[in-house]
Amino acid sequence: LTFVDGISGQPVPGLTVTVDGRPATTDELGRVVATVRDGTPLASAGDAAHLDRVTRYEAAIGDRLILWHVSRGGEGSGRWDAGYFQRLVYTSSSAGDEGAVVPLSRPNVGSYTMSVLRELANDKESVAALRSAADRATLVSNGQIQLTFESAGEDVTFEVDPTDPNLSGNAIGLCYLRRSGQTITGARIVFPDAKWAKSDVATHELGHFLGLRHSVEGRDIMAAEYSGAWPFFSEGETWAVTQMFQRKQGNIFPDTAPPASGSGAGRSEDVVICNR
Ligand SMILES: [Zn+2]
Repeated sequence: LTFVDGISGQPVPGLTVTVDGRPATTDELGRVVATVRDGTPLASAGDAAHLDRVTRYEAAIGDRLILWHVSRGGEGSGRWDAGYFQRLVYTSSSAGDEGAVVPLSRPNVGSYTMSVLRELANDKESVAALRSAADRATLVSNGQIQLTFESAGEDVTFEVDPTDPNLSGNAIGLCYLRRSGQTITGARIVFPDAKWAKSDVATHELGHFLGLRHSVEGRDIMAAEYSGAWPFFSEGETWAVTQMFQRKQGNIFPDTAPPASGSGAGRSEDVVICNR
């Protein structure tokens, strides 16, 4: 087995690991030699640059175990520590559930169709801006999520509806997320005014579709309160998406495989209210 950094793809040497209850340390090539079969318990701990990981070996993942990279900051890198990712990936920002500890939720890798409804359908400037937001979401997912406009696309829809009852106070966007268990299957994105469809708020809402929650970092595009400061996903947010897509839905903080019994496949919808 080789233990690999989730961002660099490089092996992690000198790591304390446990394979089937037996302690070991990875060699200079990040390896431990052990006999494993499906279901063998694996764990890693003891490295400040990576989240602890507890999982079970699956032949389907091959012989590389990907570790979640964190950064405490320093020369040339930002501070994207465990708390940053805990908030951005594993803490609910859904209405009525804010701050709750939740498992990782994301869409399956694949193609999704989008369309614009109501007054946005005839607003060429908004459609162009939403296309650009979709390109950013595709890019940050490294092409794993393809978002394309189709006339009746229904996976992700955008509309302006100032009468939506969730649009009170400082709300500038709503993301109604459809889920099956912890798999995000679609989103209905509502703006109180078309001007927000033409802003970075559209990219922020698609960040929710990818599975990101609200960020503690005020300059992030997923910041809990929109500041208009940054038009693209930050490096920390990009790291989060990269590492989320190397994990299954239901993964819990700090990077633990979901229990074998699973969390059910019930369909649900929740709403994320995004404020300025
Ligand atoms: Zn939001």
